Amino acid sequence: MPAPAYDETNIFAKILRGELPCHKVYEDDVALAFMDIMPRADGHVLVLPKSPARNILDADPAILGLLIARVQKIALAIKSALAADGITILQYSEPAGGQIVFHLHFHVLPRWKGVELRSHTGVLEKPEVLEVFRAKIAAAIKPD
Ligand code: 5GP
Repeated sequence: MPAPAYDETNIFAKILRGELPCHKVYEDDVALAFMDIMPRADGHVLVLPKSPARNILDADPAILGLLIARVQKIALAIKSALAADGITILQYSEPAGGQIVFHLHFHVLPRWKGVELRSHTGVLEKPEVLEVFRAKIAAAIKPD
């Protein structure tokens, strides 16, 4: 069964078009990174390509190559800004793979020894809390 085509009405497409707000951490010509509103860890960031792709299964490999370099940039900033012991990268594709929003994105999660991840799509975080983490992470991003 082929996957449905990319749907321009998904929530991340609306954020990319500026129709909905986000707590933006980073943006360039390839990618946008912002805070997850239901974070599984403090400082949970999503990194997505600006070009349309439903998930990793239909993404242009050339874009994926560029995108993973942005994922690394954000991971380094998060680790440094939040004194994380490690980083977990997650990517869900298709409903059976756990995907909920159908615009390709990578989750970048800071990890600390002994701290478990919270549940996927748990509790909405307060905007002022997201802003604190956004500002710390954005300030730690190394210029190109
Ligand atoms: P996934 O598709 O990777 O399974 O899950 C989508 C992720 O997007 C979840 O972690 C969820 O908390 C997050 N999310 C859903 N809607 C929004 C939104 O409107 N804004 C932001 N920043 N994150 C969202």
